Amino acid sequence: MSRAANPAQEALRRVIMARYPITQVVTFEEDRVEANLRHLTQNSMKRAGFWTWACTTGLVGPEGPVKDTRDPERALDVVAGQPAGVFLFRDLHAFFGQPAVVRKVRDVRLALTNTPRFLFLTAPRVTVPLDLRRDVAVMDFPMPTATELGHLLDRYVAGFEPPPDDDTRLSLVTALRGLTVAEASNAMNMAFYGKKRVDDEAMTTLHAQKAQLARKDGVLEFVAQKWQLDDIGGLEVLKQWFVKRRTLFEDEEADRRGLAPRGVLVMGIPGCGKSMCIKAAAALWGLPLFRLEMAQVFSGVYGTPEETFDHALKMMEAVAPAILWIDEIENAISADAEGADAGTKGRIFATFLTWMQEKPAQVFVGATANRIDLLPAELLRKGRFDQVFFIDLPDESERAAIFDVHLRHRKVDLTDINVVTLAKATKNWNGAEIENAVVAAMIEAYDADREVTEDDIFFQVGKVVPLAVTMAEQIKAIKSWAGQRAIRAS
Ligand code: ATP
Repeated sequence: MSRAANPAQEALRRVIMARYPITQVVTFEEDRVEANLRHLTQNSMKRAGFWTWACTTGLVGPEGPVKDTRDPERALDVVAGQPAGVFLFRDLHAFFGQPAVVRKVRDVRLALTNTPRFLFLTAPRVTVPLDLRRDVAVMDFPMPTATELGHLLDRYVAGFEPPPDDDTRLSLVTALRGLTVAEASNAMNMAFYGKKRVDDEAMTTLHAQKAQLARKDGVLEFVAQKWQLDDIGGLEVLKQWFVKRRTLFEDEEADRRGLAPRGVLVMGIPGCGKSMCIKAAAALWGLPLFRLEMAQVFSGVYGTPEETFDHALKMMEAVAPAILWIDEIENAISADAEGADAGTKGRIFATFLTWMQEKPAQVFVGATANRIDLLPAELLRKGRFDQVFFIDLPDESERAAIFDVHLRHRKVDLTDINVVTLAKATKNWNGAEIENAVVAAMIEAYDADREVTEDDIFFQVGKVVPLAVTMAEQIKAIKSWAGQRAIRAS
């Protein structure tokens, strides 16, 4: 581990060293906070006792429960009367609506200042009222580290036959990242129920848990793994780029040296596989993929667009390691595109740029764009994305590969079908059009109760005028624009 073995305990220790009398710890994991604080108190502050308070139990100290302390004011009085101690209050934020409680907190803060007494308040989000902002420090409690989750995992898979090898263990821990200890335990209970070995089903279950976590929020959509890298015809440069970075993402040494990939912008002609590439990268790297629904962000259903966007980025940090896919990014940020007003988009764009600079390495951003002429120059400047790729219409050999992929995918016998001839007949076609022709031909053949033939596909090909012909002008513009600004994907 590059960082301290237990960042959670380190963070709590720093708060104590800095002598903050009252700190709100933002977390869903009260139990983990308690375990870490108790450990810290018992090991480093031997003369101080460790106390907890909840509105159901009242105050419980080293000597056991203290009578009549369910009332928060009385409990705080007892705190102020102790010579030393670490006090963890679980529910105090629920009483911040009462002026007497707020007053009492301020008084206790004065009493505790510069004494060996530290009051910690847990809450799932920042709930310090305005009146107390100067009295109460706020800290985000770190999510469990890979090491902690690894220890937890080891307990679950002890006795598995065969035991998971290093690669499997790494992908399991990766899948657990972003979950709390309780969530990770639940996920493993579900994934390993009745099992004696780790299989694909277990991985799928763990990914589904992350999906649920994101879905609670609405604007992030979990995208199930459908495409593998091998399913993409052509685009070799782009594929190699992903393959090369396969191990860098999870490698802490690579992260320290600034080599961990941060993001890629894939732009190009519609229907040529931009989205497919992002999905395949998620499968290759074994990471969950979340699509940010910009239409939902702008809808106002979840709050102002700015708040919703900000919240979605925070959610991504919580479920990391993961890939964030922003589809048609031009609509999200360009004032000239459809969607919200220019002012809102400008603010969202500014937030996004700052976040791209500061975001944790464990969130990889895959952005895709069609109307590349709408993308502001700041977005393309070096440092935002590791690489900007341009996907052109597939050339002849790529078209043959795309025919091959889609026919094989649908279990068609290729003995009497020449994909090279088909590729020659589909100049200027994109991947989506090729796929459609294959599907249409197969439906006709299925209807006639026979296997699909090369002629069936040719018949469909003859019926279609490809987009590249109807949109010749736009495509010429896209190509000349991208030629100077992006690397070709093939
Ligand atoms: P859009 O901008 O219209 O969303 P896109 O560039 O993101 O398009 P995809 O959604 O990735 O395109 O591709 C559409 C479909 O076309 C895919 O589901 C896939 O079946 C097929 N396709 C496109 N390019 C390829 C390719 N290179 N290899 C295999 N299939 C492809």
